[in-house]
Amino acid sequence: MSRSTVHRWWKWIAPAVLFGAAAGLFERSGMSDAAETYDLVIANGRVMDPESSLDAVRNVGIRGGKIAAISEGPLAGKQTIQARDLVVAPGFIDLHEHGQEPRNYQFQAHDGLTTSLELEAGADDVDKWYAARDGKSLINYGVSIGHIPVRNKVLTKTSSENGLGGKASPEEMAARDAAAHREATPEELAEIEEALEQGFRRGALAEGMGINYTPGASHWEIVEAFRAAAKYSASVHVHLRYAGGKEPETGLSALEEVVAAAAATGAPLHVVHITSMGLKYTPQLIAMVEGARKSGLDVTTECYPYTAGSTYLQSAVFDPGWQEKLQISFHELQWADTGERLTAETFEKYRKQGGIVVIHSIPEEVARIAVADPIVMIASDGMPITGAKVHPRGQGTFSRVLGHYVREEKALDLMTALKKMTLMPAQRLEKRAPMFKDKGRIRVGSDADITVFDPNRVIDKATYEKPLEHSEGIQFVLVNGVPVVKDGQLVDGVFPGRGARAPITQ
Ligand SMILES: [Zn+2]
Repeated sequence: MSRSTVHRWWKWIAPAVLFGAAAGLFERSGMSDAAETYDLVIANGRVMDPESSLDAVRNVGIRGGKIAAISEGPLAGKQTIQARDLVVAPGFIDLHEHGQEPRNYQFQAHDGLTTSLELEAGADDVDKWYAARDGKSLINYGVSIGHIPVRNKVLTKTSSENGLGGKASPEEMAARDAAAHREATPEELAEIEEALEQGFRRGALAEGMGINYTPGASHWEIVEAFRAAAKYSASVHVHLRYAGGKEPETGLSALEEVVAAAAATGAPLHVVHITSMGLKYTPQLIAMVEGARKSGLDVTTECYPYTAGSTYLQSAVFDPGWQEKLQISFHELQWADTGERLTAETFEKYRKQGGIVVIHSIPEEVARIAVADPIVMIASDGMPITGAKVHPRGQGTFSRVLGHYVREEKALDLMTALKKMTLMPAQRLEKRAPMFKDKGRIRVGSDADITVFDPNRVIDKATYEKPLEHSEGIQFVLVNGVPVVKDGQLVDGVFPGRGARAPITQ
């Protein structure tokens, strides 16, 4: 039976079949020929696609890892997922996730992620990073070439596993700290630029930058790093040089530095976690991003839906003066290993030891304003799971937006929220990595990365006290057409995740 015959035939019979139990009969009958049978069908779900604005009950047919049909009439599949009363959305894309290990991917799948990207810190060896995850990953993964680890490697002649910190001996920590606080020589700067370009030739998705962690990097070094990104149409994902509102080293002046670098070089700019940079001045920072966009610059931003930040205590973020800049004191810092609040004494002790702290610094009103703003994407900034009390954001960001801010707080509508976690991150990367044109959409021909959730039940469960709890209400997650979550449970032994990468040119 040809496709068109089926469609004509269905016009007559579909209303009857759709009615009640008859739909179930059809699924079991598996009536059509091979060409019309899909690998998998998601039946009767409320399909929401932020690109086309489709928001209606549809059946989605998947074949060969792609969306092959979106139909008002029933479709026959070798497997069928019943999605009645559930939302069928594009799989969530996280532009900012430091947790890139199998255990992180499990939490992320429960939170609706199909693509997890480490674009802020990035890696210094792109090939090695992808190879470590190839064929072993639950969800799709990707990385930027990271200015922090590249710079550290050039200045210290040692490789750091994680651009922001990670395990290191006291000597290595001291060497990294010294390098972070000194200017690069002209020869070193040339070497940094060459290493960044090498990362792009090997398919890095973007350029990562954390100027707050490398205060020795001169303004010119930043411009040069943007110039390297511009050559490869890559967005630069920046943790700004300063946070907070104490003049002259404010989040706003730090934003001015990178908006100027973007304008001067043509590189697209993406400002990470705008709330922890702006603190109570976040609305002004968002206004700057919006203004730059209206003036024709390619500038975007993101936030996570929490009132605390998190990073490594040994980093330059906690150089003298941090209390005044961040408008907090020792008690607002929580040691991730134990959950204890710090004092002047434990601050010194743990800063020497090295490790992750949670930073309670973001006003609730600010988190809400950023989450609700249509130009601000959602990205988790999730952390590696190094202790019992890590930040909950890597486990619960996306469900928290959908459950807490959309359903409970009504801070934004569901379609806008989905757009901020699917279409917008895909569009951010698609110029550099065309594969993202087939992500973040429910469209025939796009990748079957799909998240099916119960809008009445979806919620984050990870808290500061109990961060290692997975989200609830995310019922089915498909990665390249393969279910990794079924009926709210992880599927064992499947690794359908693929490297999300820009074209390799050399
Ligand atoms: Zn950051």
